[in-house]
Amino acid sequence: MRTTQGEGSGGAAQVRAAAGPAGVWQNPSPAQHNGQVPSGRVHNLINIAAYSVLSAVALTLSRQELLTITPVQALNFTVAFAAGTFLLSPDLDLADGHVDSKRYWGLLGFVWVPYGKLFRHRGLSHSWVIGPLTRLAYLALLITLIVGVLRYAMPTLTLPTIPQPISLKFILPLVLGYFLSQWLHLIADGIRPDHGFRQGAKRLKMPRSRARARSRRA
Ligand SMILES: [Zn+2]
Repeated sequence: MRTTQGEGSGGAAQVRAAAGPAGVWQNPSPAQHNGQVPSGRVHNLINIAAYSVLSAVALTLSRQELLTITPVQALNFTVAFAAGTFLLSPDLDLADGHVDSKRYWGLLGFVWVPYGKLFRHRGLSHSWVIGPLTRLAYLALLITLIVGVLRYAMPTLTLPTIPQPISLKFILPLVLGYFLSQWLHLIADGIRPDHGFRQGAKRLKMPRSRARARSRRA
């Protein structure tokens, strides 16, 4: 079912139940898994809380000279974490309806509608590695299309270029920030890291079991 407040907005009681330690930080039982998942707002609060704790730990460690983080690295982590939390949430697989993560895009929210139509809710989009990559790939495709149209419409226009080469020290905080924001969402949803593999295995098994059912009927 499509919801207005992200997934699991079936009532304040449900959200409260999901926000409790049992619903959020532990793998819910199959019965809980069907309905009691955090709303978009609860996901944001979880991610903001986790960011605050991480920042405090990082600050303490760097004050004690146990960790060295440059201001650029801290900024990259923060930007990627915020983008992953607010703009590239796994719940964009609901973007063909009304969902918080689409609303953050404002007037540009419509660009995620095809993504919402393409991906089943809590399917591949909610897997730990491929899921976050699908949103990056989709975003890259959108940017490529826009740049292509701009170059075609205005050939004299000079677009900003990415400075080369990009060091690992620059990229790593971006990757960490983005994936951590996504994984916190999946943990809160009660989705295990092998989610994508199990789904793939199920899909592979399906034709065989169907064939067996058919042979039984014959
Ligand atoms: Zn979700």
